[in-house]
Amino acid sequence: MGDLVETFVELIRRASTELPADVEAALRAAREREDPDSAAASTLETILQNVALARASSTPVCQDTGVPVFYVYHPQGLSTRQLRAQIEAAVAEATRRAYLRPNAVDSLTGRNSGNNVGIGFPTCHFNNGLGKERNGLGKERNGLGKERNGLRKERMRVDLLLKGGGSENVGTQYKLPYEPLKAGRDLEGVRRVVLDAVYQAQGQGCAPGVLGITIGGDRGTGYVHAKEQFFRPLDNVNPLPELAALEERLLRECNELGIGPMGCGGKTTLLGVKIGVLHRLPACYFVSIAYMCWACRRARLEVLEDKTTFS
Ligand code: SF4
Repeated sequence: MGDLVETFVELIRRASTELPADVEAALRAAREREDPDSAAASTLETILQNVALARASSTPVCQDTGVPVFYVYHPQGLSTRQLRAQIEAAVAEATRRAYLRPNAVDSLTGRNSGNNVGIGFPTCHFNNGLGKERNGLGKERNGLGKERNGLRKERMRVDLLLKGGGSENVGTQYKLPYEPLKAGRDLEGVRRVVLDAVYQAQGQGCAPGVLGITIGGDRGTGYVHAKEQFFRPLDNVNPLPELAALEERLLRECNELGIGPMGCGGKTTLLGVKIGVLHRLPACYFVSIAYMCWACRRARLEVLEDKTTFS
């Protein structure tokens, strides 16, 4: 596969400085929905101006460039050790070029590594192949569609999320049944805890955000899969009708909470809700909720032989 360091730097630059078109369009639509004289409308207007400036000047969309989370889907036989080394080199270089803020802090000493490389930092998930081989559930169960499962052997794909700290702090996990909300082990129970999570977050996750949710899995896989949901475009419809209906209902109901952009009040608390599902232990029923702020930064790189494509 060769040296991909510069290619990874470009992936990081794009993720950090160019908000995806669907997210920007959703922010624009939200601004149009809000009362023109409201704090919500002016907050969204400021966000949109900031997005345009960041793109034009190739500077980060937000001062917190978050933790880089890489999902690498690689062909058979590729060394993940080498890939990780190239990713780390790219992250360090992207930090030097100020596409990333130095964010990796030693949890014991409080010392910042200065280059976004540390123990378990950046986050990398390596997957040899995709879809069925990986989770045995097939495209119809993971909510990510055909495209995600259709990689050819020689092709590699790298998905990158930049996950901001404010929104990470309001992500949460519930264990059903959850007595305080009378939330049982069913989709109504899921609905109740998701509404609670958004209500508890108020404006602290830098609303309007996007929710990535996993029903099932264990405490670890639930969050990993929840963050994968952020790669679904906002207009992507869940292939499972009951989850598609729940996504739509939760989006509407969360927006009726009136929390609004940055908690200033208004009609737009969320831009999207995406739900995935994993098998679970009989004894456990977790609902893992990852909260992504308005700076929903994602970018994708595909490498096929010597051709590289970004999206
Ligand atoms: S939560 Fe998101 S928008 Fe808010 S400061 Fe962090 S990265 Fe920026």
